[in-house]
Amino acid sequence: SKKLHKTHIFLPHLVAAMVEVEETYIMIKPDGVQRGLVGEIISRFEKKGFKLTGLKLFQCPKELAQEHYKDLQSKPFFPKLIDYITSGPVVCMAWEGVGVVASARKLIGATNPLNAEPGTIRGDLAVQTGRNVVHGSDSPENGKREIALWFKEGELCEWAPVQEPWLKE
Ligand code: ADP
Repeated sequence: SKKLHKTHIFLPHLVAAMVEVEETYIMIKPDGVQRGLVGEIISRFEKKGFKLTGLKLFQCPKELAQEHYKDLQSKPFFPKLIDYITSGPVVCMAWEGVGVVASARKLIGATNPLNAEPGTIRGDLAVQTGRNVVHGSDSPENGKREIALWFKEGELCEWAPVQEPWLKE
């Protein structure tokens, strides 16, 4: 049991070392833009310490919304979801960082804002699943797929924030 205890103590370090730099697609949905929450939402990812590599205000065509949400095609709410996402401009963002995909999902909170913890974006700023203000990729693979879908070549920036040495050991 002593050995087990030791393993338990060292596990978090091993896990931390294994986490890789990832990219995720974050999008402020039309309700977030209309409600004046753009600065507030961007600020949460900035303050956390992730790196913004792409940013634009964009009126999304129906075909792109359908492609983005193609896994939900068969859901009864799909047509309403497409209408919602294309109902006004969205803010498209690419963010980069160690473990950014899962961490961004935590910052965003549960899909249904009434189940989202206080302190999360949806927990603090939204009440309905159909108006949940923000999207975040659910896997590193989807992060790459979605960034490629929403951004053209030349729209992303590689840069080195001056704060980097103060975020990483
Ligand atoms: P998430 O955005 O948290 O990853 P999903 O991938 O399950 O959640 O769903 C994508 C989006 O579809 C949700 O963020 C929400 O805007 C919409 N949605 C999901 N479920 C419903 C529902 N039952 N009714 C209306 N809209 C929904």
